[in-house]
Amino acid sequence: MKVVVLVGGVGGARFLLGVKAALGLPPVGPSDDRTDAEITAVVNTGDDVWLHGLRVCPDLDTCMYTLGGGIDPGRGWGRAEETWTVKEELAAYGADPTWFGLGDRDIATHLVRSRMLRAGYPLSDVTEALCDRWRPGVRLLPMTDDRVETHVVVEEPGQDGEPERKAIHFQEWWVRHHAELPAHSIVPVGAEEATPGPGVLEAVEQADAVLFAPSNPVVSIGTVLSVPGLREAIRKTAAGVVGVSPIIGGRPVRGMADACLTAIGVATSAEAVGRHYGSRSTTQDGVLDGWLIAENENVDLPGVRVRAIPLLMSDVDATARMARTALELAGVTL
Ligand code: GDP
Ligand code: CA
Repeated sequence: MKVVVLVGGVGGARFLLGVKAALGLPPVGPSDDRTDAEITAVVNTGDDVWLHGLRVCPDLDTCMYTLGGGIDPGRGWGRAEETWTVKEELAAYGADPTWFGLGDRDIATHLVRSRMLRAGYPLSDVTEALCDRWRPGVRLLPMTDDRVETHVVVEEPGQDGEPERKAIHFQEWWVRHHAELPAHSIVPVGAEEATPGPGVLEAVEQADAVLFAPSNPVVSIGTVLSVPGLREAIRKTAAGVVGVSPIIGGRPVRGMADACLTAIGVATSAEAVGRHYGSRSTTQDGVLDGWLIAENENVDLPGVRVRAIPLLMSDVDATARMARTALELAGVTL
């Protein structure tokens, strides 16, 4: 059984724990070699950023730490038992940016990654090397080895006091400004020239099911789908394609996905996000056969099989039930 999951960070990583459990694998840690269940996560790299000379890949690391047992469970990102000495020392130098917290343990990951990247290894090889330590039990594939960085076009008062439009890195908008600066547009810079990472298209082609985690539809799943060739591969695969809504009761469960959806003119509702992904059978470039929405909700989504079930990933069992339903909806018999 081959399952491909498109993911971002926290929402994606938690969903992957449930997919592993649904396939009978231990949620955290390596998968039994004897299993025929093979999970490939295609991970968003649009959030990646150079900070203090280090390449930081937030979504890859969140997945790697979560599945490998190193995550801080409270925050949902970064390392457990983290300390912040380097951050304090950098602040004492006034070294910008000060708004992005890199923990001491986490920095070791970025050091190893940056060194390998500078030595010429592609991000996919670097990720595989980092996963030798964490053994996430899932193949973590960067969506691309090329540099794609999500930028947000915002308006700020310029020097003459008049509003001025400028593009800032997604992390600056998200972490520094808490997505409170209204966004005019969100652009995956570099995506047009990017090619899918090694193994990504093959995984989609050979999959028995393709799932979209309940990750941010714009800056996680949307960015993955912006890599040329990926949407077409998903449209062509023989596998069933099923998405899970990150929007419950008209709000994102965590975070500020509503600000991202507003920026691209999509309402914050399970129906609008489902329509934004679109039906694979009845629309030109849609990608969904199935759409999971929260219990007691209703959506009108022509050409898509819709199922309403509890969608809160409160623990691994609850998440595994979601994953199992998604797989069933994709036509897989467990
Ligand atoms: P990020 O990269 O760390 O921001 O994480 P993702 O893009 O992978 O996931 C963020 C999305 O996960 C948010 O839009 C949330 O609404 C969604 N999310 C978080 N927890 C849950 C949950 O328990 N259930 C559902 N359905 N969505 C969730
Ligand atoms: Ca992210």
